[in-house]
Amino acid sequence: MDLGIAGKWALVCGASKGLGYGCALALVREGVNVVINARNAQSLTEAAARLAAEAQASGAKVIAVAADITTTAGRDAVFAAAGGPGRDFDIVVTNAGGPPTGDFRDWDRDAWIKAVDANMLTPIELIKATVDGMAARGFGRIVNITSSAVKAPIDILGLSNGARSGLTGFVAGASRSAIAGRGVTINNLLPGKFDTDRLAATVSAAASKAGKEIEDVRRAQQAQIPAGRYGTAQEFGAICAFLCSTHAAYMTGQNILADGGAYPGTF
Ligand code: NAP
Repeated sequence: MDLGIAGKWALVCGASKGLGYGCALALVREGVNVVINARNAQSLTEAAARLAAEAQASGAKVIAVAADITTTAGRDAVFAAAGGPGRDFDIVVTNAGGPPTGDFRDWDRDAWIKAVDANMLTPIELIKATVDGMAARGFGRIVNITSSAVKAPIDILGLSNGARSGLTGFVAGASRSAIAGRGVTINNLLPGKFDTDRLAATVSAAASKAGKEIEDVRRAQQAQIPAGRYGTAQEFGAICAFLCSTHAAYMTGQNILADGGAYPGTF
């Protein structure tokens, strides 16, 4: 299926590896020009080189901007890379890594501010900077990478459960504002368990909390997922690319769960 977005410009945050990289890869394969972002310059440059190799077939451009997207300076840097103050992006995938695991009794105000900054306020700033330009041009797609923890909270991920729920509430309102009638959609894509470095870190934390071997925890987790396995970043990217496509124009304000069937509810 032609997704109808070749030649558009996308900002994909947190894209040197994992789910963000999966999204950038899927978009590049559709001929979308991407500005990818992460903090570590070396791994970002390596990721950009891999994407550029993929882009040869589609002719898409790949620009890498090493910056902390949770800072004003970082956001200014990614906007400058596309030639303007954020108004030139047609597609924005927000993502900034997840907050640390732990016990809620140990988190002070600073820990909460950091989590809210990265997983709620940064996506809101990116939305604020880009949607009006998108609406003026009559096309825009925002996809926020959040978490299945928004639907089914995970005990050791309290910072994530809380901060991302704030973003989810904001998106529910903003997506249904006047921009909805001007070709702009905002959706949240909720990963369950995908095999990335982030998952490895949370599995390791769960294993050490339970006094178990990492491989045993991985096996047990996968056995509990109806699909019988973790998801791949490539599968996640394909869903993201569809949400960014012209075909998904009538979907906005939704929370799309990709979890191999792990969430047990009917809705
Ligand atoms: P990952 O493999 O650790 O990759 C995170 C990416 O984000 C890296 O490219 C990282 O590069 C970048 N990043 C982190 N902080 C950043 C910042 N402040 N500014 C710019 N880039 C930043 O993580 P992932 O598994 O892809 O997860 C992506 C998101 O989905 C996270 O929020 C995670 O909590 C959430 N999630 C993941 C899963 C899962 O199963 N994987 C499940 C639920 C939710 P640098 O470190 O170089 O900046």
